[in-house]
Amino acid sequence: MEDVVIVDGHARGIIAKNLVTGKLERFTANAVVIATGGYGNTYFLSTNAMGCNCTAAVQCYRKGAYMANPSYVQIHPTCIPVHGDKQSKLTLMSESLRNDGRIWVPKKLEDAKALQAGTKKGSDIPEEDRDYYLERRYPAFGNLVPRDVASRAAKERCDKGFGVNNTGLAVFLDFSESINRLGLDTILQRYGNLFDMYEEITDVNPGEVANEINGVKYYNPMMIFPAIHYTMGGIWVDYELMTTIPGLFSIGECNFSDHGANRLGASALMQGLADGYFVLPYTIQNYLADQALWGKVPTDRPEFDEAEKAVNAEIDRLMGIHGKRSVDSIHKELGHIMWEYVGMGRTKEGLEEGLKQLKALREEFNTNLFIPGKKEGLNIELDKAIHLRDFILMGELVAYDALHREESCGGHFREEHQTEEGEAKRDDEHFFYVGCWEYQGDDNKTPELIKEPLEYEAIKVQTRNYKN
Ligand SMILES: Cc1cc2nc3c(=O)[nH]c(=O)nc-3n(C[C@H](O)[C@H](O)[C@H](O)COP(=O)(O)OP(=O)(O)OC[C@H]3O[C@@H](n4cnc5c(N)ncnc54)[C@H](O)[C@@H]3O)c2cc1C
Repeated sequence: MEDVVIVDGHARGIIAKNLVTGKLERFTANAVVIATGGYGNTYFLSTNAMGCNCTAAVQCYRKGAYMANPSYVQIHPTCIPVHGDKQSKLTLMSESLRNDGRIWVPKKLEDAKALQAGTKKGSDIPEEDRDYYLERRYPAFGNLVPRDVASRAAKERCDKGFGVNNTGLAVFLDFSESINRLGLDTILQRYGNLFDMYEEITDVNPGEVANEINGVKYYNPMMIFPAIHYTMGGIWVDYELMTTIPGLFSIGECNFSDHGANRLGASALMQGLADGYFVLPYTIQNYLADQALWGKVPTDRPEFDEAEKAVNAEIDRLMGIHGKRSVDSIHKELGHIMWEYVGMGRTKEGLEEGLKQLKALREEFNTNLFIPGKKEGLNIELDKAIHLRDFILMGELVAYDALHREESCGGHFREEHQTEEGEAKRDDEHFFYVGCWEYQGDDNKTPELIKEPLEYEAIKVQTRNYKN
């Protein structure tokens, strides 16, 4: 889908690109539902499939749908660390590993330095020199703290120099204790497929004894590091899953609903299934019941002509840039800006710098992009360029939202707003609302913020505590 078609203020169809022939096609309907996933690939490297993109959602935003809470991005703590600058994808190791695996870094900086230099292995470091920092900081939950907390704690240790691989951006996830306690067979029954996957990618077998110190067997620990995984923000919808454009619905990860600032494990299942099976089939009928339904909707209406013309003109514009940089090289740069300035720890200064760089990157995209081939037929680079245009806009939205939200809340951590112990500090007095952003008619214009207050009647709002 390249665009949504609005007729008399209501969503009445889409313009889609046939990815094989390159032809634009028109589809009409009495209502439009987008279920096109999240915007995690804005960061270039993420656990998402490489085809995931936010073009449909961003195009709905350009047509008037609000984008809500874009700064709420989930960073998953258990991914295989980045291993070089030629990588295009990150691999997620399962959350379940934290049930029996223990996360640690060395207690001593000299051990961390030796690990980084490759002169020591994790299994050379005995029990008493290991810092199980999640168990130390969060005794009540230990390794099972939520993803945002576990991710930030890993970043904190690595920022202090305790990272365990050559880039200093990794921590250990170790099964020695659980294998010694429960036996290798039990652990393999639980995680054998994940051990295989880890070995396949890294050539290290976490189920293999690597050392024995004072009669204690130490197995090869896995290395993990946080990575972009899920986006809690997205298109704003009401309780009927309708966006601010009548007749346009949004379900699954591409809407903002259900999760708030923090998504817990497995709950995309809840959102995907609940939205698609249990909510929308009923609520969409409420909308349709009030509409004068079109029998066979004509696709030769001026609104369809106009939308198709605009998509075509945009494709011609992109094909005509004839610059020097590939889509991926600009996308990679976008990812660096996002991770550096709009990533796990955000500051006012960093976000302002990030926004400055994002604007410069859009200019670079618009003047120096190179798309090989023709617009007719299959042209994957062209499709990626369209997605990149929208990732840049989405990146700005994440940054605007993160900049204005002067508090730390779930997946959004502002370094200026933390407790003395480094925990997130919310400001419910000033930020107890959904931040919705409205497009102002041009990608270069700053979007307008609209606040939807949060009102809880049945539950008491509390601050999270994983310590006791
Ligand atoms: C590695 C990994 C592990 C995960 N593990 C879990 C888990 O254990 N439990 C859990 O609950 N969640 C998990 N999640 C999250 C969950 O998988 C996703 O949130 C969920 O799949 C989103 O579903 P969706 O239908 O909203 O979007 P998606 O599954 O992303 O589907 C979107 C679809 O829209 C299509 N699309 C995109 N743009 C366009 C366009 N412009 N035009 C037409 N089509 C388009 C895409 O091709 C895709 O088919 C995991 C995610 C990842 C990446």
